[in-house]
Amino acid sequence: MPNSALAQEFQGGIVIANNSSGSMKIVQAPLPDSVILPLQQRIGDEAVALVAVGDEVLTGQLIAETTDYFCTPIHATISGIISAIDKQIIPHKSGLKSNCISIKSDGKDEWISLNQQHKNFLQSPPEKLIDAIQAAGIVGLGGGGFPTHAKLKNLTNCQTIIINGTECEPGIMCDDALMQNHPLEVISGVEILLHICAASRAIIAIEDDKPAAFSALQKCNKNQQISIVKIPTKYTSGAEKLLIKSLLNIEIPSGSFASDEGIICQNVATVKAISDAIIEGKPLVSRVVTVTGSGVAIPQNYEVRLGAKFADIIAASKPNNLPHNLRMGGLMMGLDVENIGLPIGKISNCIFVNNAEKKPAEQPCIRCGQCNLVCPVGLLPQQLFWWSKHKNTEKAMDYNLPDCIECRCCDFVCPSHIPLAQHFVAAKELNYQQTQQQYKTAIAKKRFEFRQFRLERNAAERAEMMAKKRAELQKKMANDKSQKAKIAKALERVKTKKDENNSNI
Ligand code: SF4
Ligand code: SF4
Repeated sequence: MPNSALAQEFQGGIVIANNSSGSMKIVQAPLPDSVILPLQQRIGDEAVALVAVGDEVLTGQLIAETTDYFCTPIHATISGIISAIDKQIIPHKSGLKSNCISIKSDGKDEWISLNQQHKNFLQSPPEKLIDAIQAAGIVGLGGGGFPTHAKLKNLTNCQTIIINGTECEPGIMCDDALMQNHPLEVISGVEILLHICAASRAIIAIEDDKPAAFSALQKCNKNQQISIVKIPTKYTSGAEKLLIKSLLNIEIPSGSFASDEGIICQNVATVKAISDAIIEGKPLVSRVVTVTGSGVAIPQNYEVRLGAKFADIIAASKPNNLPHNLRMGGLMMGLDVENIGLPIGKISNCIFVNNAEKKPAEQPCIRCGQCNLVCPVGLLPQQLFWWSKHKNTEKAMDYNLPDCIECRCCDFVCPSHIPLAQHFVAAKELNYQQTQQQYKTAIAKKRFEFRQFRLERNAAERAEMMAKKRAELQKKMANDKSQKAKIAKALERVKTKKDENNSNI
């Protein structure tokens, strides 16, 4: 695929006006006074702290680890003293607290010595590089948070690597800024992935409203295996399966994965983190975060240490004094948060600070069919809504509920302001619970049936054994009777003989 090729447009989706006008500079956020680092990651077991309150730590030092395959180690993101290991609220839809390690900064930002043993990565075996990626704590930085090493391990027959340089949602600028400011690192990260996966090609996909990022990467790219391709700017062009369809015209069927077709997708920020880890030996201790929205005067991208508070960078964007609605991630697929004291995590790509507005009231469905036209995965949201609302998950499953990517395109166009995706999320959860319940019921039924079978089998075996014993006894007794008769006859014969002898004397 040539560098400037424009990928084909996918069906559905929506074009959302992008009113953000932020600078594409990446501002170094001031070193935070303290950081909060959750031990619970996106999936898998909670990590175990390797430090205690009062310990001194250096930036980049390993402070928690786990043996769970789907987890990565946790590193200190500033130097200082461990001030607490306790439960804190973290930005998660559950709103629950999680065990966290808090570090109070010593203001020095003293680093561990960095291990650059894989600097000449072509000399390193792929499995060693994957281990180094895991040790650096790298996960998908596009918002998914899936551990990168887990995607790379056990990958067989990888043909194509797709690098997702689409922002997905308007307002988010962090990946655009990253591509403009760090094109060399992005290209070297892609080359590392090419070596690890032994893939024949890599495609970097960039939306066509990001010409500066496109030319920055084009200028740096000298590798024939890497092509840079423009994607039509349309929400949700960055969704993995849609991106693959746009670029390669390959449909990944429901229930299958990109890797089944020899394809692996990574976000540009993840790729840059891979380069930092392999070339410089740096663990993941910071990320680029966009602060934007109607409530700030300076929309901006910040390179910020993980665990710093939202407030640390919101303040630098000069928020107004009005009440705000805060949202982490995109306006469409992000998460509403209430607390600016929450810590920035690996998946916190954007913080929206919007002036609070009253939401329009929900009205009944007027069956206009608008939602059906925009669904990028070809579902029928109107029908799905009907069955989800009535908690008929069986019917909702017939309408392919699990394929819903919760993009909220249908919500966006609904003139009745129905939060359709919210119903689909609830229906998925209900279906999960019902499936679990059905599974438990099936297990209990099987256990009951097996108990019945075991009792009946034992009774039958016992009856058979008793019958056998009875027969043996009877046989023995029968044997005993014939023995007695023989003895009696023998005694009779002896007596008769004696009598005869006596009469002859
Ligand atoms: S867009 Fe809204 S009102 Fe129109 S059919 Fe869909 S759910 Fe109903
Ligand atoms: S939220 Fe689900 S049903 Fe609605 S448009 Fe997106 S994928 Fe389709």
